[in-house]
Amino acid sequence: MTPADLIANTIIQCGECTACCRNTMVILRDDETGYADTIVRVASGDQYRILQSRPNGDCVYLTNHGCSIHDHKPAMCREYDCREVYMAMIVAKTRRERRADIASCGDLKAVLRAGRKQLRNTTKVGMKGA
Ligand code: SF4
Ligand code: SF4
Repeated sequence: MTPADLIANTIIQCGECTACCRNTMVILRDDETGYADTIVRVASGDQYRILQSRPNGDCVYLTNHGCSIHDHKPAMCREYDCREVYMAMIVAKTRRERRADIASCGDLKAVLRAGRKQLRNTTKVGMKGA
């Protein structure tokens, strides 16, 4: 089974990790209302509703005990999988490109670390179950 198959067939176990709740643009779907949101306009002119962040970049719903709206967090949070981010970076980018990306977004490093760790755990579980 390939890493992509393992990722597709397993649910990520985040535990206490909150690496992707910092400096991340959580885009809300049109039907996702009632959140603390704000509108951003991107270079193409398109605009999106995103979750608000604190001045330090943390999501407004992030607490010392994790996500305060865990049971009804937006779809993008529910579907986010740092293993996919890690795999995409490893497959599609050179080491130099990865370094440049990490330098331009400090929290990406933490997400990639989490993705690598999660992928290793997934692979171990997958091999046991094979
Ligand atoms: S970075 Fe990965 S392990 Fe950490 S909270 Fe996000 S999805 Fe979960
Ligand atoms: S809503 Fe919760 S899971 Fe989503 S970014 Fe904010 S703190 Fe993280």
